Amino acid sequence: MFIDTHAHLFFSNFDSDLEQVIENALNAGVTKIIVPGTSIETSNQSISLADKFECIYSTVGIHPHDTAAWTPDLIYELEKLTKHPKVVGVGEIGLDYYYDFSPKEKQIAAFKEQIALALEKDLPVIIHNRDANEDVMEIIADYDGRGLRGQFHCFAGSIKDAGYLAEKGYYISFPGNVTFVKAENLRNVLKSVNIKNLLLETDSPFMTPVPHRGKRNEPAYLPLIAEKIAEVHNLSIEEVAKATSENSYNLFGIREKSDNLTYTYRIGNNLYINVTNRCNADCVFCDRKGEAVIRGYNLKMKKSEEPEASEYIKEIGDPSKYDEIVFCGYGEPTIRWEVVKKISRFVKNNGGRTRINTDGHGSVINKRDITPEMKELIDTVSISLNSTDPKQYAKLMRVDPKMHAEMIDFAKRSKKYAEVVMSIVGLSEVDTQKAKKFVTEEVGVNFRQREYF
Ligand code: SF4
Ligand SMILES: [Zn+2]
Ligand SMILES: [Zn+2]
Repeated sequence: MFIDTHAHLFFSNFDSDLEQVIENALNAGVTKIIVPGTSIETSNQSISLADKFECIYSTVGIHPHDTAAWTPDLIYELEKLTKHPKVVGVGEIGLDYYYDFSPKEKQIAAFKEQIALALEKDLPVIIHNRDANEDVMEIIADYDGRGLRGQFHCFAGSIKDAGYLAEKGYYISFPGNVTFVKAENLRNVLKSVNIKNLLLETDSPFMTPVPHRGKRNEPAYLPLIAEKIAEVHNLSIEEVAKATSENSYNLFGIREKSDNLTYTYRIGNNLYINVTNRCNADCVFCDRKGEAVIRGYNLKMKKSEEPEASEYIKEIGDPSKYDEIVFCGYGEPTIRWEVVKKISRFVKNNGGRTRINTDGHGSVINKRDITPEMKELIDTVSISLNSTDPKQYAKLMRVDPKMHAEMIDFAKRSKKYAEVVMSIVGLSEVDTQKAKKFVTEEVGVNFRQREYF
């Protein structure tokens, strides 16, 4: 199916019918939509949309139009936003000398500093370029060989530039203007770009394709652009859909739900290890027994399908490539503590870092204090606090209230052997401030509020 990599659904002309717009998109086979932010405010709006709609992903960035008030401090704001699990890139960023809403120097500084952020976070960039081709290409050439990945959206460069960018592994996309009758030049550029380097985008609410020109654009019109690409490249529309979806997966890490069970999966620069689907708890907010899908990865695993440590190790390869190897998934990893230890030993012997995301019931589950066994194997223990109140904890997790004390004890003991973080999901009934105070002052470990998992 189709992925719209560029739709500004936070624009006010979607306010009254956004739910309908999403439904239209899904009905047209557009199953994923990336909403690029253009300022701090719209980046936050894009994240809210990603929270609300499963099919929406977000990227955060300051558009060249919004860089008049650029200060380097904004990087910290953006950096915070990149931590949201549905933020899949930095953008849109770039240069726009056509409108010239912001001074050139500001635009260039903002562009470069946001590229640096993307490199630091190993996120792709989404680049906007209007009448600034020379400067954009020069800046991009400066990053040659430094691992920069990205998309040139609403491409208006030459065949030569497109060739250079494709050779460097960048992706290129054309919105509805490629369907305009007089856009023969644009179609020639499109023809020159291999399908392996193309993405689909609408640039909604702008650039409405024929025959809806003049109306507000929306993601449901994406197949019209895919059709034009199919025609120019002499492919079927299915082939265009398949190739561009695969490209979106390669660049942004988002993809269609897979039926194949996933043992390891990548988010950002971490590799997550799906150890088990089993758990001693039954949290009210957990989708463990439901679809158990994260970012399109199917984590639903029967006990009989649980792989041996050696299989995970094969999939990990070189652990030093990643920031962290994280034991996670929809299940409690300490249920397979021996496997976790074996994998961790391999990771630590090969220069990697390990983190275990746990409910903190590992010692009860294994009927012995397992915390000393973490020594030199587990770098970080991330424990779900869920609530400071044992009764509420028991109700949320559907466990015995005494498990709250067990979990706190586990956290305190773990401190001797690893860095400990306690976290809560941002549930409204939980008092975040109280939780933070409790964690840092009474348990004496780090606190984090997390969104999903
Ligand atoms: S502890 Fe984790 S895996 Fe287990 S039910 Fe709760 S959220 Fe799901
Ligand atoms: Zn743009
Ligand atoms: Zn845009």
